[in-house]
Amino acid sequence: MLKGKTALVTGSTSGIGLGIARSFGAQGAQVMINGFGDVEGPLAELRRTGARVIYHGADMTQPQQIADMVRTCETELGSCDILVNNAGIQHVALLEDFPVERWDAIIAINLSSAFHTMRAALPGMKARRWGRVINVSSVHGQVASAQKSAYVAAKHGLVGLTKSAALECATSGVTVNAICPGWVLTPLVQKQVDARAAADGVDNAEAERRLLLEKQPSLQFTTPEQLADLCLFLCSDAAKNIMGQAWAVDGGWTAQ
Ligand code: NAD
Repeated sequence: MLKGKTALVTGSTSGIGLGIARSFGAQGAQVMINGFGDVEGPLAELRRTGARVIYHGADMTQPQQIADMVRTCETELGSCDILVNNAGIQHVALLEDFPVERWDAIIAINLSSAFHTMRAALPGMKARRWGRVINVSSVHGQVASAQKSAYVAAKHGLVGLTKSAALECATSGVTVNAICPGWVLTPLVQKQVDARAAADGVDNAEAERRLLLEKQPSLQFTTPEQLADLCLFLCSDAAKNIMGQAWAVDGGWTAQ
């Protein structure tokens, strides 16, 4: 389905981004991955799909490194046709206790990086008259939770940025949309499960159950594979008139 296309997925060494990169590779796309931690494992795994995969280590807090990442994707892989802005971090604290440095990092990684990648990638997409941008927002792009002020602000901002970019691209063959997952059991959420287990004095399974019970009516985690399938749909011809949407995959969280 994606033969001849090139995808850049930020924050794809782990979790949701790795799931999306895996699925793009399996569909025949060339893929540039990005992120921290173990790089060789994901690279080897993705190359087993037969896809051409390269890595760029840009730090999403650094605009110049982000510009270099997009440029390298275009020069080494020939284009950047699909851009998934997925890199993200979380910090949980009351607003008055929120470290300023964590606020700045969350706004930079979860919001501003998408501005910098789109700024660099949209001209090429528009010139080729085909492109797909998928911004990984969150249910927290639509509703709030306490103690997540920076994350909620960034993810709401990302939904707004998505709408604005979509309007600018509306006649160009390029679509820009956001996806808004509820709980997905990745390292980012495991930290919150661990915190719940410690606070409530319960085991991991019970902490997972309590986390879901509080917000996600399906009582099931969304999986990276389900999100990857949604991304594939957004890349398809069937989705070419879907623009500026924020698509929840949240087990009913925001229906309440
Ligand atoms: P994760 O921690 O498994 O993955 C995050 C990725 O971002 C990793 O590859 C990490 O190396 C990368 N990253 C972090 N800081 C970076 C930086 N400065 N520069 C470059 N890369 C950086 O988390 P995840 O749960 O897979 O989250 C992926 C995205 O999905 C995030 O934007 C997150 O907010 C969003 N999201 C997650 C959930 C969930 O329940 N897990 C729900 C809604 C939205």
